[in-house]
Amino acid sequence: MTIGVGERVVEQLHGDGAGAGAVGRPAPMSEQEAMFRNTMEAAQVGIFVLQDQRFVYVNPFFLRLFGYEESELIGRLGPLDLVVPEQHPYVIEQMQLRAAGVSGHSYELTVIRKDGSHFPATILGAPSTFEGRPASVGTILDISAQKAAEQRIRELADYDVLTGLPNRRLLRERFTQLLAVAEREESEIAVIFLDLDHFKRVNDSLGHSVGDELLCEVARRLDGVVRRIDTLARLGGDEFIFAMPGFHTAAAAEVARRLLDVFARPFEVAGHELTVTPSLGISVYPSDGKDLEALLRNADTAMYRAKEVGRNAFQFYSSEMNTTTLDRLLMESNLRRALVQKEFVLHYQPLVNLENGLIVGVEALIRWLHPELGVIMPDRFIHVAEETGLINPIGDWVLCEACRQAQAWCDAGLPPITMAVNVAPVQFRQAGFVEVVAGALATSGLEANRLELELTERTVMHDADINLGTLSALHRMGVELSLDDFGTGYSSLAYLKRFPVGKLKIDRSFVNDLETDPDDWTIASTIVSMGRSLRMTVLAEGVEKPEQLALLRKMGCDMAQGYHFSRPTSADGMADMLRDQPFMNR
Ligand code: C2E
Ligand code: MG
Ligand code: MG
Repeated sequence: MTIGVGERVVEQLHGDGAGAGAVGRPAPMSEQEAMFRNTMEAAQVGIFVLQDQRFVYVNPFFLRLFGYEESELIGRLGPLDLVVPEQHPYVIEQMQLRAAGVSGHSYELTVIRKDGSHFPATILGAPSTFEGRPASVGTILDISAQKAAEQRIRELADYDVLTGLPNRRLLRERFTQLLAVAEREESEIAVIFLDLDHFKRVNDSLGHSVGDELLCEVARRLDGVVRRIDTLARLGGDEFIFAMPGFHTAAAAEVARRLLDVFARPFEVAGHELTVTPSLGISVYPSDGKDLEALLRNADTAMYRAKEVGRNAFQFYSSEMNTTTLDRLLMESNLRRALVQKEFVLHYQPLVNLENGLIVGVEALIRWLHPELGVIMPDRFIHVAEETGLINPIGDWVLCEACRQAQAWCDAGLPPITMAVNVAPVQFRQAGFVEVVAGALATSGLEANRLELELTERTVMHDADINLGTLSALHRMGVELSLDDFGTGYSSLAYLKRFPVGKLKIDRSFVNDLETDPDDWTIASTIVSMGRSLRMTVLAEGVEKPEQLALLRKMGCDMAQGYHFSRPTSADGMADMLRDQPFMNR
């Protein structure tokens, strides 16, 4: 039988004339009443009667559904007590319509059990009367199972089963929304196409289940890089897509760099340590495409170009970006390679004692021997290395190589010299820098006082207190310290006295016009006398002319370096100079 929800049923339910709370009270029942009572009790759907926004009847199924005792509900609570607050306005509206005699249609609500838990339900109500006054009768069905099934279906349709990441369908859906916003706000969206290099090898050599696990691990790491508003999707295979709203070119490059970093550590999968690298292609809306398909196609093209330049790299689709902004960025991925493929070399420039003309030290200066571009000078790549943190491994290499070379000259019987090595601010501040220096000395066998670290004023003055610790530790080891490019920073004398620095190197810019510019002369001679009063050695950089040298000698400058003596030269050239001592006052 169908459950009638109308006046007749309600009247018959309460045919004994009892009011609210009458259900269940033992009373003589007619056969018909008993039948209705049994029907209500057996019904596998919640049935309720409302009057004045209170429950005046609910069936046992309703009570079980919500976990209430009848006495707690009848005449005490109303629908608003069982519905989440956000939906109260809607419920009130529905109750008013029923009270006004308007028939209802079914609607969904989130309802609350007595224990506070929620579940989704469908409600169907109809106007009625109760004890001669307007009321409404309704049914309620728990639709949790149905909702869960719907959710699961949606997940299967929208998410990649292996990694749980959004799939192409969901990516497309989300991208439609991103496009709408980007169009309105005239903002950009970056699309990054990431493909693992040689992923097939993993599958072929270790089997598909290892390959699958690796993909999940990769997905997990990548997911840690994106912002909440970004979408990371898996297109299938080893292809991942990032859709990142509000990203301009430089920012996209920054993310691409972080994505490459994600792969720096090997992945531990099924007892294997797997090293994989990705290749990335980047396209940017609106310049590289107006819809997802075009952007994906172009990001894919760029990704293949990244594979061509040597994998573990990224490329922009727009060739313009690749040459201008990318000049720098390209260099960065090249820099990584350069380190691995040993494309760096050190050249050496003599540091000359002005009293006797003896070469008492050399400065190690890095050069990059690029296979296609030839020699690249440090001014062009050191700042990229600093910005990207690559300066740490590069700087570590410089330290080791310079120490090794100094000891090799010593072993070859050449006159003892001090090896001066430039240290970038980032490198100096990296944790464990002192240990790196100690390691370079220990490995090479070079005595600590044969090594001199060149720091700029800015490096030292930044977080002066912290740096003082590092400087003191190096000083205690016996390593010499000098202040490079002196005069261009903002060192105060009071500060300088606190640091165990033994040498000041007057910046080239003051030496350049020393013989013509009186200001430069004043600055240079002030540095010389200041250094003297602090018992520091003063060296002039960039000495190109004999006139400059003569002035510096007159000021009492201790040492000099510059093209006047020699340009930086290879280790072999430097060895010859050390042997010949061409600048000695004979
Ligand atoms: P710097 O430490 O001030 O090194 C001196 C620079 O002046 C060198 O340029 C040298 O070739 C140049 N120079 C020497 N004498 C003369 C001269 O008479 N006239 C002129 N015009 N220039 C002269 P370079 O080798 O190009 O290095 C530039 C800068 O790059 C260095 O300046 C230093 O700050 C940095 N650098 C070089 N090698 C390294 C390194 O291994 N690590 C770090 N962190 N920085 C380095
Ligand atoms: Mg230097
Ligand atoms: Mg310098």
